[in-house]
Amino acid sequence: YTQQAQDYMNTVFETVRTRNPHETEFHQAVKEVLHSLIPVFSKNPSYMKLGILERLVEPDRLVSFRVPWMDDNGNVRVNRGFRVQFNNSIGPYKGGIRFHPSVNASIIKFLGFEQTFKNSLTGQPIGGGKGGSDFDPKGKSDLEIMRFCQSFMTELSRYIGPDKDVPAGDIGVGAKEIGYMFGQYKKLQGVYEAGVLTGKGIGYGGSLGRKEATGYGTVYFVDQMLGDAGLSFSGSTVVVSGSGNVSIYAIEKAMQLGAKVVACSDSSGYIYHKDGIRLDTLKRLKEVEKKRCRDYILEHPDAVYTEGCSGIWSIPCDIALPCATQNEIDKASAELLVQNGVKAVGEGANMPSTLEAIGVFLDNKVLFAPAKAANAGGVSVSALEMAQNSARLSWSMEEVDAKLQLIMKDIYRSSMMASMEYGAPGNLVVGANIAGFLKVADAMMAHGF
Ligand code: GLU
Repeated sequence: YTQQAQDYMNTVFETVRTRNPHETEFHQAVKEVLHSLIPVFSKNPSYMKLGILERLVEPDRLVSFRVPWMDDNGNVRVNRGFRVQFNNSIGPYKGGIRFHPSVNASIIKFLGFEQTFKNSLTGQPIGGGKGGSDFDPKGKSDLEIMRFCQSFMTELSRYIGPDKDVPAGDIGVGAKEIGYMFGQYKKLQGVYEAGVLTGKGIGYGGSLGRKEATGYGTVYFVDQMLGDAGLSFSGSTVVVSGSGNVSIYAIEKAMQLGAKVVACSDSSGYIYHKDGIRLDTLKRLKEVEKKRCRDYILEHPDAVYTEGCSGIWSIPCDIALPCATQNEIDKASAELLVQNGVKAVGEGANMPSTLEAIGVFLDNKVLFAPAKAANAGGVSVSALEMAQNSARLSWSMEEVDAKLQLIMKDIYRSSMMASMEYGAPGNLVVGANIAGFLKVADAMMAHGF
């Protein structure tokens, strides 16, 4: 690699650091990508002159807005809303909305930045965006959530549209919240634009298979990776963190492929069920009764519940699927997983491993499926939902699932090929970043600056 390319990356990173002080998650996401792109810039120094990276690390725009809403006691409360529109070179901005107390500009920007590369990798015509609020849906009544969603959309509606920016769900935002937001958007616009949001209910423009897509997609991707190494889910012991939408359907698909999933978690603690998690119980607790992981052991006394989240990585497993949240696997957890013989890690969440943790996995030859590639199934089926909305028709579950499997295979293949072409064979972190980048960069150059 050329010294020029390395110096250039350092300069770009320093600019990001000084221009975005204290935004540690954003710095982390940018750092990983810049490092991966050194071989590309060594080969194509002209990218430097064109300022491709300087443009990519600066979002097209970041809007932040006040979201006032009334709680059930009649008090007016105020949260902060965000939408980052990162890059629309290959399609309308696309990316989820996260409602979680940790949401701030850094979190939204790291997510929007990653989304740009992820969406490019899917091969679908979607650009990168992300949104959210520091609103905590936990413990809120249905009416409070509805009023919040309406207020959030009242402000957001001016920035989005089916050919402009298409939000979806993420942590804290599922079909219910999307429904309330869609209702408000429809009321404000006075037209029925189904394609303005994805992750909608099946009865009004949603796609079959969207709910399952991220979790299934992660397992499809990891299955490809395992297959290339002569391994498989069948007979493997799997640990999946989280117990939301991504986790539940990763667990379901892993089980369908013959794995034994022994643990999952929520923000309070984790369950370990030696004989295998009972998915029917977990689904009912989480999706219907809105209960916590700790309630699982009331029904299965042979399972163990432990307070705190990071302990889940001390459970020996063949395959680890972090599907909870950013930076949930640090260096120590990664070392523990390696010590206990983990063979593969597949990231269902966004940026669940720290840079140091990724280093530990790669150094120890653990098969590693990075988030941008491995969790791209959700946004891929969102793109399929947009296609169905535009065509005013709906595909069967079988059709959607077949397309999802093909997309995940393609993402695996293009990431693998890029890793080989650019001198890091089998390193899917590098491969996914490069493959995602090249398509966006080509479009940016075609469009002029
Ligand atoms: N929030 C998901 C992601 O991180 C899905 C985004 C979407 O469907 O637009 O990719």
